[in-house]
Order: sequence, then C-alpha cells, then structure tokens
Amino acid sequence: MGSAERIASAAQICQDAHSQRPTCAIVSAMSKVTDMLLETLRHAEGGDEQGVDAMLAKLDTRHRECCNELLDEPLRSETQAALDEILAEFARIARGILMLGERPPRSVDEAIAVGERLSAQLIAAYLRSRSVDAFAVNARDVIVTDAVFGNASPLLEQTREKAQNTLRPALESGRLPIITGFNGATIDGRPTTLGRGGSDFSASIVASVLDASELWIWSDVDGILSADPRLVPNAKLLEEITYREAAELAYNGAKVLHPRTLAPLMEKEIPVRSKNSFDLSKPGTRIVPVTRDGPLGPRAVTSMNNVALVSLDPASAVLNGTKIMARSLEALAAANAEVLALSSSSYRQNFCFLIRQSELPAVIEHLEEVFALELAHGYLHPIDVDLDVGLLAIVGEGMNGHPGLAGRIFTAISREMVNIIAIAQGSSELTIAIVVRKDGIEKAVRAVHQECELGA
Ligand code: ASP
Ligand code: MG
Repeated sequence: MGSAERIASAAQICQDAHSQRPTCAIVSAMSKVTDMLLETLRHAEGGDEQGVDAMLAKLDTRHRECCNELLDEPLRSETQAALDEILAEFARIARGILMLGERPPRSVDEAIAVGERLSAQLIAAYLRSRSVDAFAVNARDVIVTDAVFGNASPLLEQTREKAQNTLRPALESGRLPIITGFNGATIDGRPTTLGRGGSDFSASIVASVLDASELWIWSDVDGILSADPRLVPNAKLLEEITYREAAELAYNGAKVLHPRTLAPLMEKEIPVRSKNSFDLSKPGTRIVPVTRDGPLGPRAVTSMNNVALVSLDPASAVLNGTKIMARSLEALAAANAEVLALSSSSYRQNFCFLIRQSELPAVIEHLEEVFALELAHGYLHPIDVDLDVGLLAIVGEGMNGHPGLAGRIFTAISREMVNIIAIAQGSSELTIAIVVRKDGIEKAVRAVHQECELGA
C-alpha cells in the first residue's frame, strides 16, 4: 500500500470480501515504511541524532498525509491520535538505541512492527468511515512465536487458542479484524517478527488456525509466472500450481510469496489465490494440493543473485568426510541459515553448499568456530567463499516422468556458453537447482525457459 489511494483500494477489497463471508484481513506496512524504520534504527545505532529526527519526521508526514486524505473529522483526529501514539513508541525505542549505541534484536522487532500497526489503523478507520465494522488488531495479541527475533516461527497450538478467543467472536458478530502482518510475540509477550516480507506468512498462519476456507494474497503482480517477466518477456501466468511447486518457487527466489507461507496451509489443504490488487479482473494463480491436470513437468524457472557458494575441502584423508558434513550442517543450523543447494563428491569428500549472502557472516563465524582445530592445524583447507555465482531453479511436479529433461536443460545452458558450477536435484525431483557464474544467470534462465517451452 503505497498511498492513500492504494489503502482505499485495499479497503475496497476487504469490504467486498467481508460483504460475502466472514473475513479477516492481514496488512503489510505502507510500501518502503519497514525500510525507513530500519534506516532510522541504523542512524540511532550510529549515534546520528539528526538522521533519526529526519526519519521520524518523514514517517510522521507520510502517515499524516494519508490520514488527512482518507478521513474526515472526527475520525481523522481520533486516528491521528492513534498514529501519534504508535510513532511515539517507535521514537522512544529509537532514542533508547541512540543512547545505548546498539540495537538489541528484540527492540528492533518491537520497533519495526510499527509499520504494520500504522497501516492497520489507517485502513480500519477508513473502513469504519464507510460503515464497515472494522477494527485494528496487533498480531502480538494473536500470533505466538518462538524467540528467534527477526525470523521467528509460529507456535500454532498457542496461536490457535489466542485466535479462537480474540478473532472468532469478532468474526461471529460480523466484525472485520484488520490484523498487522509481519509480527507476533513469544509466549511471555516479547515482540517478534517473522522475517522480511513476512505478512504473507502471517496471513497463512491466521488462515490455518482459524480453519479458513480460502486465503487470498494480494500483491502488485498478476500471480505466479513461469519466470520473472523482467528477464523473460514471454513469461506466462500459471493459473494453477501445487503447494509444493509454489513453495519451491518461493524458496528459490520467486518474489511473489514469502517462502514460509505455504507450510501452515498444506495439512488443512486451504487453497490460496495470488491476485493483483492493481488489476482485479486478472484471474491470478490458484495454489492447490493437486492440480486438475495432474503433474505437468517443468512449470517455471527462477533465479537468485545474492547467494554465496561455500566450499569445505578436507586436506587430509584422516578426516571422516561424513562427520565433516554433519558438523557443517550443525553449524549452518546454529547460524539459522537455510541451505539453498548442496552438492558433494565422494572421493575427496569435499562439498559445497549455497546460502544467501545475508546469512554468510553468521555461517562463516559458526563454521570457523566448529572447525577451529582442523583449520588451525591444516586438516581442512581454508573455507572457500565464492560470491560470483547465481542460482537457477527449474520447478515442477512430475519432472521425473520426463526422461532426458536434465540433459536438455544442461545442453541449453551450455549452448549459451554459461559455465555450470554445481548441480543439485532433490530426491522429490520437484526442483533441479543449478549454480552458474553470476554473469550467465539471465542468459541461462532464458535458455531453460525456452528449452522447456514454458512461455506464452
Ligand atoms: N513490512 C514487512 C516488510 O517489509 C513485511 C511485509 O511487507 O510483508 O518486510
Ligand atoms: Mg509483502
């Protein structure tokens, strides 16, 4: 939601849904606001008081203008008072960080959840001005999570209990809860967030614990496409895909869905619709347990640039390669990093894995700690990190029914003179992941998209 106008059209979507059946809405912050909040905290940590003040003023103006545009008195003043209070809370945290000179993760989570609290107030007030009985809910009071600040996971049983107590009665009396996306709290009430872009995940958590009949995710794209249309002009909208396909696509870089969104829905088979809020006439993509036409083989190609290939290479045959792998994976888990691809060779026992660059510092720190002795005594070669790589993934159920597919894919990539660095194929054969040099990634995506005839 980038402007008052966009808030009004989001409100219209909520109102239409609510007029047909009991509805909960989960909102993101206004666009760029989460980045602005984070930037404010960076200024604070760096001791830059002027920078903090300038950002606070910007945040205030942005929301005040929307409030003025959307609402008339007396609702305008009432809502502005609520916004002021939320922004004052944020300012208090920012000033605390300014004094301390550091950003404790839990204060950051409390602070950056403010964006959603502000947008929820605005849209709920606007709906009330149109006689819809909407009210803002801080997801802190609904979504219970573990204490992994910045990337928390929901505790579904506890969340279900809270949602049944707080949301269910409101829904039953015809009210429309507008819930903040992105945030939650631990059992003992400490504020957490679910990771950047986490509002989709919030929505699927709420859908799951309320046993929703459907989840609709509204964004600024038509749905899930066979490739990124900026790279592949003839990319095609996929009308229907499975949960597993959508999850693989999200994990491998497709931006329309937060990667963790689908997990809470799978067990209950709650269908999802991904729709474009800028063009309601477009059908969007339905995400379902099984597609009507059955498994269709390759469906889409994704790519990811900000990745790092980390290689571990034993220098001595004395080391047990399997143990090295096991300990590395433990280090990755301790660093809370996600392995995007993994590949190994049995003879020299060296292996490499691909992670997000943002997770690299923590991963290296943990690996160096775990292998401190081996590295110091030269049993392991120094850990090698290659940043000049990108990941390409071909996703689709039933690819195993297409013999020769992998060969065709590799041939198509090598025709473009792009060098393949590593390959990983999950045993589910739902995804073939290929690591290539960064400057070849776009060519490779186009070549694979064409070879698999995925386009319109
Ligand atoms: N506002 C949060 C973010 O920018 C969550 C979201 O938009 O989904 O990451
Ligand atoms: Mg989002």
